[in-house]
Amino acid sequence: MSYQICDADKTKFGRYGGRFVPEILMQPILEVTEAYERLSKSKEFRANLEGLLKNFAGRPTPLYHAKNLSKELGRKIYLKREDLVHGGAHKLNNTLGQALVAKQMGKTRLIAETGAGQHGVATAIVGANLGFETQVYMGEVDIERQKMNVYRMELLGAEVIPVRSGSRTLKDAINEAFRDWAASFEHTYYLFGTAAGPHPYPSMVRDFQSVIGLEAHKQIMEEEGRLPDCIAACVGGGSNAMGIFAPFLKDNVRLIAVEAGGRGLGRTDKTADNGASLGCGTDGVLHGALTKILQDPFGQILESYSLAAGLDYPGVGPELAFLKETGRVLPKMADDKTALQGFRQLSRLEGIIPALESAHAVGYALQEPEALGELAIINISGRGDKDLATVMEYETL
Ligand SMILES: *Cc1c(COP(=O)(O)O)cnc(C)c1O
Repeated sequence: MSYQICDADKTKFGRYGGRFVPEILMQPILEVTEAYERLSKSKEFRANLEGLLKNFAGRPTPLYHAKNLSKELGRKIYLKREDLVHGGAHKLNNTLGQALVAKQMGKTRLIAETGAGQHGVATAIVGANLGFETQVYMGEVDIERQKMNVYRMELLGAEVIPVRSGSRTLKDAINEAFRDWAASFEHTYYLFGTAAGPHPYPSMVRDFQSVIGLEAHKQIMEEEGRLPDCIAACVGGGSNAMGIFAPFLKDNVRLIAVEAGGRGLGRTDKTADNGASLGCGTDGVLHGALTKILQDPFGQILESYSLAAGLDYPGVGPELAFLKETGRVLPKMADDKTALQGFRQLSRLEGIIPALESAHAVGYALQEPEALGELAIINISGRGDKDLATVMEYETL
């Protein structure tokens, strides 16, 4: 389940990545690195994870030939159905993997950050199932915006801790979680939600999400006898995109990373008005890694924006930053309106309501079908039930 494009000490992708963290966090981070390196080679660990992925998460997910969308776009389109994973998104692939690492390390408590609440819910699910005490840091603004997910986490037995610092959103929740971890790592594991953060998280999260691409690789060969011309996936931090891209990196397949174009107005001085760190960002350090981030000329992090809460992050995983720079991954943008078209069209044409995040990839495909070639896969990272209120509110504006 792995491949590597790393430097000698394997913490970086080209110049991106690394471990830009306070000294106090080096010990827990090195412990996680050591444990993951050991466990990723263990047959027993893999068998354990595969069992949970199959019987608890519902894998493998189908690779579905979307006949009506194909007709609309004049090419053959398959959808990788991560919306069918337990919990409604790809997130559980990662939380199951990391929770098993935490178990093996003898930890009894999980902490996590969450923005929209999706990663918090996926962490609460594994916390309940595998018997951890679970606490989730969440910005006060997000708690107000995402009441249903707060309630879900509480139902699942997790405690949601409100974060009142900074902009009271995701980036502040991550800072608080690291602060907690510095004082609690003896018994606590920090379960990071995307393919970003300090090494080993970008590699570990990519590996756990690679199950998406490994399945898709096999499934498309079975169905078509050849690889696709193109794969499109949405990008927040980059975990569903890296998950489906990784097993295709050495192949002749165009990889398109669709970021949030936001309101489509361009950036102002205090906000970037989008979540497009790969396409619009510049080099800087955020949450322990050198990567592409949305920042002002003084290095202050800009507030990102997207109608899709899961794409509303001012950074991106370092491996994607590297793959953009080498030209292997092409960053593209879909704004709110384009995403809503994707949301409506996929619902109407295929009877599948996608997450607003995934709808960015669908919307991009509707807008630039030629970029997809003759045969393409779109990753449907999650289902859209969580987004109905947002869409209803937007449409009545
Ligand atoms: C969280 C989320 C995303 C964005 O996160 P990545 O790490 O970039 O994948 C995308 N889609 C859905 C459904 C999500 O829940």
